[in-house]
Amino acid sequence: ISWSVEDEAVIATNTDATECKRCAVELGYWKDEYITYFAKHVDRKAPEINRGYYARVKAIEMFIHQFLERCGTKCQIINLGCGYDTLYWRLKDTTQAVSNFVELDFPSVISKKCHTIKRNKQLLEKICNEDGEIVLRSGDLHADGYHLVGCDLSNVPETARKLAAAGVNTDSPTLVLAECVLVYLRPDAADALLAHLASSFPRLLLLLYEQCNLDDKFGEVMVRNLNLRGCSLAGARQCGKPEAQAQRMLAAGFETARCWDMRAVWRALPEEDRARVEAIEMLDERELLHQLHAHYAITVATRGELFADIDLNC
Ligand code: SAM
Repeated sequence: ISWSVEDEAVIATNTDATECKRCAVELGYWKDEYITYFAKHVDRKAPEINRGYYARVKAIEMFIHQFLERCGTKCQIINLGCGYDTLYWRLKDTTQAVSNFVELDFPSVISKKCHTIKRNKQLLEKICNEDGEIVLRSGDLHADGYHLVGCDLSNVPETARKLAAAGVNTDSPTLVLAECVLVYLRPDAADALLAHLASSFPRLLLLLYEQCNLDDKFGEVMVRNLNLRGCSLAGARQCGKPEAQAQRMLAAGFETARCWDMRAVWRALPEEDRARVEAIEMLDERELLHQLHAHYAITVATRGELFADIDLNC
């Protein structure tokens, strides 16, 4: 398989995200015992970046909690463009481990993640219990309740095949997570994937974390930056106003869709949590954090009664 220069640049965004998370974890923004396996050495990041990552991780966690409250553990999570995300292991350490957890990314990312898991007992033991079996097949990893599979998400038939091979059951309540991923797909490919998901899962919660409001000066800089990281200009420009993001989900076939920029998300986080992280580092550039928060958003789109009332302020 040969990867284009664009794909290489996109794949590198995962290294960057993992290093940022490790830096914030080391400073005490949130706990993650597993991130160090995936990012060996990191330079200190700017306080705005650390706080931005905290808001993202915390908010996604709050929505996942609402999902699990509604369906218990008999449900599945699909992590699109998972990179080195450690959510599977963090959930395993709670009472909220789900029946099936499926992670997808480009095959080269999956094979590196697989390699890291195999080399580290603390990661491996959460995947297979004593008599559990791990099957490695064409670069993918299949275990009871955990699947790590390589594919190009812009190829819907391939993605659908990989989901089926990972034991995904379309009748089961399903959470699909896509953090900073769909922006790297061509807009028509991202729309096709969203439409496929919306038509396949009658009980579905989609959580999307992505850039938004890219039509101002700060947004233009972000578009250029995204473009350097392998994102097409058309892809970057699809990150419009939150209302447009929600509209896009409805057009793809979701029944409800809401989108909040990270300023609103930050205000909705518990006050004690905000106070705690505000005390970790001084912010020299308050305006920069404000701008960053104005240019990222969380979109929640649903199908089925079960998830229709999931909200930011729950
Ligand atoms: N979701 C992870 C997180 O939040 O830490 C990783 C985010 S990283 C910015 C983007 C990820 O999407 C990368 O791991 C990249 O390889 C993956 N990705 C982008 N386009 C993809 C595609 N067409 N098929 C599969 N994976 C893709």
